[in-house]
Amino acid sequence: MESWEDPIADTRANTSSVTAPAVFIDPQVLDTRARTFPEQPEGQERHEGVTGLESIERGAGRIQVDDKKIINCRADLNQLVPFKYEWAWQKYLDGCANHWMPQEINMTADIALWKDPDGLTEDERTIIKRNLGFFSTADSLVANNLVLAVYRHITNPECRQYLLRQAFEEAVHTHAYQYCIESLGLDEGEVFNMYRELPAVARKAEWALPYTNSLGDPDFRTGTAEDDQRLLRDLIAFYVVFEGIFFYVGFVQILSMGRRNKMTGVAEQFQYILRDESMHMNFGIDVINQIKLENPHLWTESFQQEIIALIQQGVELEVQYARDTMPRGILGLNAPMFEEYLKFIANRRCAQIGLPQQYAGVGNPFPWMSEILDLKKEKNFFETRVTEYQTGGALTW
Ligand code: FE
Repeated sequence: MESWEDPIADTRANTSSVTAPAVFIDPQVLDTRARTFPEQPEGQERHEGVTGLESIERGAGRIQVDDKKIINCRADLNQLVPFKYEWAWQKYLDGCANHWMPQEINMTADIALWKDPDGLTEDERTIIKRNLGFFSTADSLVANNLVLAVYRHITNPECRQYLLRQAFEEAVHTHAYQYCIESLGLDEGEVFNMYRELPAVARKAEWALPYTNSLGDPDFRTGTAEDDQRLLRDLIAFYVVFEGIFFYVGFVQILSMGRRNKMTGVAEQFQYILRDESMHMNFGIDVINQIKLENPHLWTESFQQEIIALIQQGVELEVQYARDTMPRGILGLNAPMFEEYLKFIANRRCAQIGLPQQYAGVGNPFPWMSEILDLKKEKNFFETRVTEYQTGGALTW
C-alpha cells in the first residue's frame, strides 16, 4: 500500500517484503530524516554543508544564482545550473578536451638511451631520477589534499565539477610517473621514498605538509574570519606555491632534455602534465580571487604580508632544489638562471592574486616555456600521435 505521508517507511517495508524491489535502494541512504542539523549559535554561521542536502532538509526552494557562494554556502550543492562561476565550468570543459593517457606516449627511445652506458651523463641521470622522485609523490599529495580536504570546503557545484576533473588528472600524472619509472626499470623503492629520504626533495614536501594537514583536519570548519583565512592561506600554499612554484624547476629541467632530443618520452609526459598543471593553478587562482571578492574582510594588510612571506619562502626552497638537483650547469642551464626564472614566475603569481611584485628587474630566461604552455592539442611539440578524445567514442554495440 502506498503511503504518501511516509515514503521512506514504504521503502523500508518493500525492502523487507518477499517481493524484491526492481532496484535495491539502501533505506539508510534515503533516510535523511535520521540526521539532525542543530542550529548554530547566534553570530556563528558555521558551514556544515558537505552534500548540499542540508538545505533540502530545511525546505529551501529552487536555486537562484545569487544563492551560490564559493565558500560557506548553505544552499543545495547538487544543482549545477544556473551557473554562477562560468570560469569553473569552462575549465572543466577545457580539461576534458585535453584528455590524454600515459601509455599513448612512446618510451622506446628513452629505454634505449637509459640502458646505453654512454647514453646520458651522471648529471642528466640525476635530474631524471630526482624529478621522478619529487613528482611521483607530490601529485599524490596534491590528489589527497584535493579529495579529502579542498573538496569539502569549496561549496559550489561548478567548482566541484572541475575539482573532480582535476582529481582524475592528478591520478593520470601519478600514473605517468609510475609508467616512466617502470619503463626505465628504476628502483621503485628508492624513487618513491625520495620525498622522505632525500633532503632536496623532502624539504619541499615537508614545507607543504602543515598546509595540507590543516585542510584535512576533520574538525575544521569554515565560517569565522579566522577559519576562512586559514582556508585561504592553505589554498594559496597549495595552488600558488606547491603547484605554481615547486613544479617549475623540474618542468624546465625535463623539458630541456626533450628539446635536446634526450628522454623525449619522459619529456612528452611532462609536457602534457605541465599543460594540465598550469590549468590547475589558474583554477586555484580564480578560486582564491573569488573568495577574496566575496569576503574582502579576509584580505587584511597583515594577512597579505603573511602570504608574501609564504611565496618568498617557496621561491627560496625551489632555488635550493635547483642547486641540489643541478650542482653543475648542464643542458645550457645553471642554478642562477633558475633563480631568475623563479623570481619571474613568483612576480607573476603575486600579480595574479593581487599582491605587489616582490622581485625587481628580473626577466624570463626560458621564453620557450611559455610556448609549451600555449600548446594546442592538435599541434604537438614532438609531433607524435595525438588522440582527439572529445570526438572519438570507445563503445561498440
Ligand atoms: Fe595539479
